[in-house]
Amino acid sequence: MNFHIISLFPNSMSSYIKESIIGRAIKDKKIRVKFYNPRDFTRDKWRRIDQKPYGGGPGMVIQAEPVIRAISKAIARKNKYKIVFLSPGGKQFDTKTARQIAQSIKDLVIIAGRYEGIDERVNKVFKTEKISVGPYVLTGGELPALILVDSISRQIEGVLGNDLSLEERRISSNKVYTRPEIFKIKDKNYRVPKVLLSGDHKKINMWKNAGNK
Ligand code: SAM
Repeated sequence: MNFHIISLFPNSMSSYIKESIIGRAIKDKKIRVKFYNPRDFTRDKWRRIDQKPYGGGPGMVIQAEPVIRAISKAIARKNKYKIVFLSPGGKQFDTKTARQIAQSIKDLVIIAGRYEGIDERVNKVFKTEKISVGPYVLTGGELPALILVDSISRQIEGVLGNDLSLEERRISSNKVYTRPEIFKIKDKNYRVPKVLLSGDHKKINMWKNAGNK
């Protein structure tokens, strides 16, 4: 699967994708991540990409045309693509959406905004889906873009090494323990819950299902 990220700040994402599981997925050619900076698609010599908002208001708005040219480059000669426009007002992203995208899309274009956002007409030129990563406003779309890359990639076969690592496919717990079995801090012993040492997988799963009390 290919991710095409449209962003004014590609460097803010490049180190994250080089590390750990995502880094390995790129090395193993399970995924590809390409960046397109709208500034490289401007036509004026100052490479300007933002202007004041029509109707007034604070901040600056990213102009549509350089973003449209960047998207056009990303989708050139592609057919199974989808374009996501990141916005705090978009549809809440979740694991189900991540799985659907991983299973059906070959090229995913992710448009990361900044400042007051991107001129709305981008969404008129292309069929986009507006997605939010949560009910809060961030300063830019780079973290949301990485969230999409990360959560969609882990749904791609082979990315997690062991398929059972996908928490959604097994009984998982949000509380996990590893060695040592007991450690001591300020005279207090901190123990692993006994049930996890029992070897009784029925009981262990019951413990996990019960919310790990
Ligand atoms: N008024 C703008 C809007 O509603 O899109 C706010 C822009 S926000 C300060 C700047 C950019 O950050 C947005 O264009 C979007 O790409 C990204 N962003 C901020 N919060 C987000 C969220 N919760 N989910 C997805 N993208 C978000």
